Formats: sequence, C-alpha cells, structure tokens
Amino acid sequence: MEFFDGAVNKTKEVFETVSMKTSEVIATEKQKFEMSSLKAKREKDFTALGKIYFDIVKDDENASETVKVKVEDIKAKSAEIERLSKEIQSAKNKLICKNCGAGIAKNSVFCNICGAKVGEEE
Ligand SMILES: [Zn+2]
Repeated sequence: MEFFDGAVNKTKEVFETVSMKTSEVIATEKQKFEMSSLKAKREKDFTALGKIYFDIVKDDENASETVKVKVEDIKAKSAEIERLSKEIQSAKNKLICKNCGAGIAKNSVFCNICGAKVGEEE
C-alpha cells in the first residue's frame, strides 16, 4: 500500500506539473493571439489615419516634399488601379463573336445575335 500511495502521489505531482505547464502555454498562446490581433487592428487604424491625412494634404502646396512625394505615389497608383479596374470589368462582361463581331456575354455558348457557337477554339 505504501508503494501504491507513493505512486499515486507521484502521478498526481506529475499531473499537476503538466497541467500547470499546459495552462501557461494556453496563456501565452492567448496573449500572442491578442497581440497579433491588436497589431492587425492598429495597422487598420494607421491606414485609416493615413487616408484622413491624405485628404488633408493631397492638394496642399505647403506640404513637405516627403509628403508631396507620397501623395503623388498614391495618386499614380489610384489612377492605375482605376484603369485596371475598368479593363477587368470590360473583359469580364464582353466576349467578341468571331462570326459577327457582336459583344456578347462572357459565359455564352452561342452568339445571341448570329447564333454562331462561341468557344475557346474554332
Ligand atoms: Zn455572332
């Protein structure tokens, strides 16, 4: 019995050590998750603040050169994004019939103007 009690106590001790370490791990993982979640939220705040600031300085002649360069970078990228967006939109919606040249819906099987089959290959 003495041996058995000893073994039980030993097991209990090991269990307590393990469960303590597990809760420590859980706490650390929870903290890491909270931290990365906060970092992501802070990035969104920085971005939002940047947009507010952009609207304030975008036409400001007295802004510093560093700010003006960034404003021009953003304006150039915005123009390119708009151009690409229009290209994508028109490519999405249109397919040119090889037979009659009509603009038809991208997912058409047959041209709804001349009835020709619309496919990848002839
Ligand atoms: Zn056609």
